[in-house]
Order: sequence, then structure tokens, then C-alpha cells
Amino acid sequence: MAFPPSFLDELRNRIPLASLVGRQVRLIRRGRELAGLCPFHHEKTPSFYVVEDKGFFHCFGCGAHGDAVGYLMRAENLDFIEAIERLASEAGLAVPQQTPQERERAQRQKTQLEALAAAANFYEARLWAPAGARARDYLAARGLDEETIRRFRLGWAPEDRQSLRRALSGEYPEALLIEGGLLRQPEGGGEPYDYFRGRVLFPIGDRAGRVIAFGGRTMGDAKPKYLNSPDTAVFDKSRVLYGLALARANTWT
Ligand code: ZN
Repeated sequence: MAFPPSFLDELRNRIPLASLVGRQVRLIRRGRELAGLCPFHHEKTPSFYVVEDKGFFHCFGCGAHGDAVGYLMRAENLDFIEAIERLASEAGLAVPQQTPQERERAQRQKTQLEALAAAANFYEARLWAPAGARARDYLAARGLDEETIRRFRLGWAPEDRQSLRRALSGEYPEALLIEGGLLRQPEGGGEPYDYFRGRVLFPIGDRAGRVIAFGGRTMGDAKPKYLNSPDTAVFDKSRVLYGLALARANTWT
């Protein structure tokens, strides 16, 4: 997005994250940080922290993480530009103009994110369905308990080449699903088919905690052992590699 960094800094300075979060969450000082009940998952003891001097929040329960913009995106279900506009109007700042191309790109990304969220729901439901038993056994054998599996929203992509396609293609254009790395278009033409098949999946999130891609691991000898979503409009592997490495370290190795 083409906002000048000075504008974004000014925005963050004028609306401190703690005051933004404090409207919805009762924050209690804990040393240098503020803690509260996470607004993004259900909990009884606080695992949600606001680090004021760095301007970000982090939840040790569900992994939600981000800055003021990311918080608003998640809390109010806004896209990046909408969150910026909301903050700017509160701060009394004018939003630098977006070109029509930039607006259109943002709109496409939003739809892409909705499709990815729908895919995450689909894969998660498949894992907990009767047919997901083998995948659940596999995860249990690797030492993952149900709480962890649910927290990271792990899923199961069935072997069926058309299962995700059948579930989503009525609601989203297939071109969008292909562009988002959910379906693959055969090179010689023919029907698109599911990108992930027969794999345990972990969703990869962006700074606002929204699903932007998936990593998948086979349970058997199929190659490659790990398969990640291709680079897309919302997923740039080189930029999220760290989170990916972390997820793997915690989950798979
Ligand atoms: Zn949380």
C-alpha cells in the first residue's frame, strides 16, 4: 500500500494502541506491559498483552499479533485501508489519496482473504469430521493435544482432488481460488483441482492474524514432505518465512 511511512507514524503517535484496545478490553498494568482478556479468543485468564512503547499487541493464547492498524482490522473486521481511514478520521488527519488501481487491488485482496478464511474453515472442519480420524491420530502421535490443534486451527485436506473446489467454487470465482493458491490449473488444460490433497495443514497468518496461506505436511512418504501455498497477492513467502519457521518448529519437527 502506498501510504508514506511518515503518515503511518503520525497516525500511530496520535492514537496510542493502549487507548484503542482499552475501549474494548479492560487492561491491567503488568510491569512494562498491559494485560487483558483477549478479544479474539475466549479465555478466562489474560494472555493478551499490549506493549505500549513498541506499539503492538500479542496474545499468547491464540497468537493474534499486530499494531494499531492490525488491531482495528481484526476487531472491527476492516480491510487495511478502512482501518487507516478510521484511525485517520479519529486523529484528524487527511488520508493521502489512493489511486483507483490501489483501491481495486485492495478490494481484490479482501475477497482473496475471505476465500482463504473459508478454506481454513473447510480444512478445519474436515479434520474434525469422521474422515479426519487418521489425521487426528497422526497429530496425536506427534504429541499435539486437542487444545493445541484447535488453537493453531490445524486442518486436513482430503485426498479427493475436488473436495475444496466443490465446497468453494459456488461462492468464489475459480480464477480467484487459483490466484489464491487454493486450486491448481492443469498445464495442459482441463478441470482445476485442489492444491492441497492428503495433507495435514496449518494456516499461516498475517500481522492481523488473518489466514494468508497454508503449509501442508504429508502423513506418509509422498513428496514433497512439506508443501506451502505459492506466492500470491496476499502471501509473500520471503516476508513471512520467519513465522513459518516458527510454526514448523513448534508443530512438526
Ligand atoms: Zn487470543
